[in-house]
Formats: sequence, structure tokens, C-alpha cells
Amino acid sequence: EVITVQELANRMAARGGEVVKALFRMGVMATLTQSIDADTAELVVQEFGHRARRVADNDVELGLVGPADADDTMTPRPPVVTIMGHVDHGKTSLLDALRKTDVAAREAGGITQHIGAYQVNLPDGERVTFIDTPGHEAFTAMRARGASVTDMVVLVVAADDGVMPQTIEAIRHAKAANVPLIVAVNKIDKPGVNPARVQQELLSHDVVVEDLGGDTQVVLVSAKEGTNLDKLLEAIILQAEVLDLRAAVDRPAEGTVIESRLDKGRGPVATVLVQRGTLRQGDIVVAGAEWGRLRAIVDDKAKTVKEVGPSAPVEILGLSGVPGAGDVFTVVENEARAREISEFRTAKLREKAVAALGAGRGTLAEMLARIQTGVQKEVAVVVKADVQGSAEAIGVTLGKQGNDEVKVRVLHSGVGQITESDIQLAKASDAVVIAFNVRATSQAREMATRDGIEIRYYSIIYEVADDIEKLVRGKLSPVQ
Ligand code: GDP
Repeated sequence: EVITVQELANRMAARGGEVVKALFRMGVMATLTQSIDADTAELVVQEFGHRARRVADNDVELGLVGPADADDTMTPRPPVVTIMGHVDHGKTSLLDALRKTDVAAREAGGITQHIGAYQVNLPDGERVTFIDTPGHEAFTAMRARGASVTDMVVLVVAADDGVMPQTIEAIRHAKAANVPLIVAVNKIDKPGVNPARVQQELLSHDVVVEDLGGDTQVVLVSAKEGTNLDKLLEAIILQAEVLDLRAAVDRPAEGTVIESRLDKGRGPVATVLVQRGTLRQGDIVVAGAEWGRLRAIVDDKAKTVKEVGPSAPVEILGLSGVPGAGDVFTVVENEARAREISEFRTAKLREKAVAALGAGRGTLAEMLARIQTGVQKEVAVVVKADVQGSAEAIGVTLGKQGNDEVKVRVLHSGVGQITESDIQLAKASDAVVIAFNVRATSQAREMATRDGIEIRYYSIIYEVADDIEKLVRGKLSPVQ
């Protein structure tokens, strides 16, 4: 236990309450006067966008290298927007339609590349960055890792379908993250639709639109016909002004990895969102546990650029390996420093993966060991939830997880208590049982204990996703 919460807050020039909240999100309950350990302090420091200097395993020197920028060095930056909503309500269509409104892309002959985020240039020079992964999976996966990249959420609700389970979940996620919503009522081209009904339905989920006296903007759009996209962009710009989004430009760049992959020809490629400072070709960057000197920076119009500023989404080339989505990246002064941080983080990643999943747990520890040694190529899960919407959402989220080496397979996802048949199923396939807001029957519990099957209880979807991700990653950072 190296530092009290209050002292940590003071050193970061952050409010104590904010630090308590950040800790809470990480699952640590602490009051201002309580002390936290070096690992936890380091995570908090990173979440606040600073860098901690770790001097020994049990000692973190919180002399922050990158403190918050002085107010007078900051200038307005474009907003970063995530689109969420129920399946089939038009998230992808809207992202595609908005992309086409970009004036710069038109000049460039319409060439854009899908890199996980893109920026739209408005006719008057304003810009808006969209995270190009619809849905709340990416959003929550990032948040689960302490990254907050989204300034606001555009909630798409189809006028002909109204508020549905994933609409409600999206609202919850946005609220949990303290991110404002703009409602886009979509498909208004369809005959006989009643957008006013959507507004009423939203009311029962504490989303009060302007017409009903609240402060949530609503725009009626048709992604299909391109109706009112300019109004939606205006609403976004207006919300951005309210939020007073600003960042320093004249400092080394920092930001977050949006997605990454290993490209056959170009090596590790990461899409990053610059959140402050200026990122330049030739910079030495640490991203998660990887580092490298930037060989090239490529923007979303497939153009190689020399430097980019805050809110720009770009691909960077030159990293030693593939960082994870949600990892923080920072520019550091030299290669020695980069190597030092990278080595430290690699060691930490290993420890954490083992600690999170291993700690005296039967099947999971074994499973992790099998994954790490490459014997096991699949993580199987059985999901039971209290409502169909959650069961589905977890099933879909987990189904998309995994990488080239280790796949995630959802054996079963359903509604209701964990029963003996779930345990049998899990046992037959060496699966983990995920209980989302449900309990196990006593028979099922007994059987699970006897057979060494682990039931993991959750009430937050991104925590499920994060744990499974850690399990999958066991292969990526082997312990040896
Ligand atoms: P997502 O699952 O939320 O990403 O939804 P999609 O963008 O894939 O759209 C689902 C379906 O709705 C597709 O068949 C689209 O063509 C259709 N769709 C999307 N936007 C509109 C719209 O504004 N009007 C109409 N009539 N159909 C739309």
C-alpha cells in the first residue's frame, strides 16, 4: 500500500471523487483516506492520461511525466462519436451514409479505407470523428480497459421498431460512462412511422428529449435516403460546443489504440486515435506492451501524412507487435525508455492474466495453462442470463472474440437459472459457465464443485467480455 487515494488525486491535480469513481470502475472500493497498492495506483494514473514512473516492483514514483496540460495551451478539438443502437436499426447504414458526406473524401475521389474510425470534414471546416465499429461492444471493451475515447453517443432508434433491448443497453452504457446522447430516429422514409412514439418510449428510460423539456437532442433521419444527415452533424457540433472539447496540440502525442492487426506486407498495423498532442512520423511510440519508431502514418483517406493532431484517427506502422484495442499509446523521448516501459508492461500483463484467472481456481487455471502452452485452441462458454436480450448480447459479443490462435465458442446461451444440464454441457466441453444476473440451483452448484466446473457470476456485460478476452490472451503472453 503505497499511497492514499487523496494524495494520488492531489498529485494528478484531479478531484478525489473522480479517483474514487475510477477505482470503483476498476472494482476497487476505496475511500479518500485509504491506501492503494502500486499496481492499482499505476492503473489509475494511466486512466487519467498520465504516466507513472515505476521505480521498483513495489514502488511507483508518481512524479508524473505527462501531467494535465495547462488550460491556456489547449485549443478546440473535433468530437469523437460512437454510434449505438439495436441490431438492424441502421447503425452501419448511418455510418456509411455519414462517411459519404465528407467533403475531403469527395475531393480525393471517394477513396476511404476502413481503419476502425474515420473523420468527416464538414463544408465549413468543422470535423467529426466517428468510431467505425457500430454497437456497444467496442465501446464497452474499451471502457473495460480504462480507455475513454468517446465524447458522445449517437443512439440510433428505428422509427418503425422503437426502443428495443439493445437500445436500453446502449442507454445504460452511455450513462455509466457519463457520455451524452444524441438520438437519431432512423428510417423516417418508411410509410406510416411515428417518431413521436420513440420519444415517449425513451422517456421511460430517463432519456428526455428537447421537445419534452429535456436536454437530449433528437434528429429524424433516413440513412437510406440521406435525409437530415446535415442536421445530425449540426447536432453533434452543438453538443461538442457544450462539452467544450479541447486538447493541447503542441506536445508529444498520447491516445488510444482503436484496433490493430498483423498485416502480411506491412507488419503490425494499429489504428490509433490521437487524444492530445501531435503525432509525427519518426516518433518513438509505446502502445500497450509494444513499441517502435513510426515508419509511416496513414489517414482514413489512405493518404500518408507527416503529422496529425487531436481527435485524428490514423494507422501507424512500425510497432514491434500488435497492441490491444483500448491500450494507451504515448510518444516517449528515446528508444531506451520505450524498451524499458514495454518490458515492464509485458511482465505486468503476464502477471495479471495469471492472477486474474489463475488464483487457486481449478478449471480456469488449467484452461489458461493449456491455452498458454498451445494445447487448447478454443475457449468454450455456456451463458445463462436473466433476460433474452442480455443472453443474446453476451452470446454475440463473445462469439466475436478470439484471435487466430484461440477461438471463443458459445455452446449455449439461454435464459434462466444455471441447472445441472448446463454443468453437464460445460463439463463435456471443458467450458466456463457464465451466470449473468442469475444464480445456480443448489444441485447445479454441488455438481459444479464436484466436477471442477467454474461458474462465474456477472452483472456487467463488458466484464464478461473482458475476462474472456484475458483468457484468450493467455496464449498471447505466455508465462515461462
Ligand atoms: P445495424 O444492424 O444497426 O447496423 O443496421 P443496418 O445498417 O445493417 O440496417 C439494417 C437494415 O435496415 C438494412 O436492411 C438497411 O438497408 C435498413 N435500413 C437502414 N437504414 C434505413 C433507412 O433509413 N430507411 C430504410 N427504409 N431502411 C433502412
